[in-house]
Amino acid sequence: MSVPAITPWVVGNWKMNPMQASAKQLVQELKQLLQNQNIEESDCHMGVAPIALALTDIRAQLHDSSRTVYTVAQDVSRFAGTGAYTGEISAELLQDSGIGFVLVGHSERREYFADTPAILNEKIKNALNANLKVIYCVGESLEQRENGQAELTVLQQICDIAAVVQAEQWNNIIVAYEPIWAIGTGKTASPEDAQAMHAKIREGLSQITPAGKTMAILYGGSVKPENAVELAACPDINGALVGGASLNAESFYKIAQAFANTK
Ligand code: PEP
Repeated sequence: MSVPAITPWVVGNWKMNPMQASAKQLVQELKQLLQNQNIEESDCHMGVAPIALALTDIRAQLHDSSRTVYTVAQDVSRFAGTGAYTGEISAELLQDSGIGFVLVGHSERREYFADTPAILNEKIKNALNANLKVIYCVGESLEQRENGQAELTVLQQICDIAAVVQAEQWNNIIVAYEPIWAIGTGKTASPEDAQAMHAKIREGLSQITPAGKTMAILYGGSVKPENAVELAACPDINGALVGGASLNAESFYKIAQAFANTK
């Protein structure tokens, strides 16, 4: 089931990188590239997810860029509001600092920080209630793929959040399909395999909500300029969540350009 034009999203997940001076330099280079040859907002939305410490500085630095580049938080607390939760940043605090987007469910959070489906649901509920947009990451391990459980795993992860997303809130969710075995490994799902999974995700979402037909479904896992064009040509791949390649302004820009050109 393919969909009519959905404006793609290309979002850079900087993870625990880089040092502040390099982050500023990276944004400066990206702004320069966009100024020299802009990628229209209507052709591709763009965002970057720096470390929490740099969110407000990067947002300020992007303020005068020639087009909107959204600043995205990499995580949000499962606790809402303000209170005695040492080390945490709530959805309301993000919103208060002008941060409108957050990644939830990245496989590194699921694996290293014990973000269970129940915890992820608390994070998603708080984020949506604070009017943040959520980029919800799903994806199977290599073992699950080899055991023929990739689809089941991913569709279960989609169903998991249906308990907390209100009908009108689905429009504030972007899904990122990131096969765990492709993250940071240099291995990418073939465009055919990625498209097949994206079509399944769309089918699953469409059974849950009418918004499923028009929600952006991003692919993530070693996306780089060399494979972005092929991935972007797939009808149900509506953008990319980019790790390693987003730390280089030119690579990130070229990936956004690939998606902007094919949609
Ligand atoms: C990611 O961490 O979201 C990611 C896709 O990383 P990479 O592009 O480096 O595989």
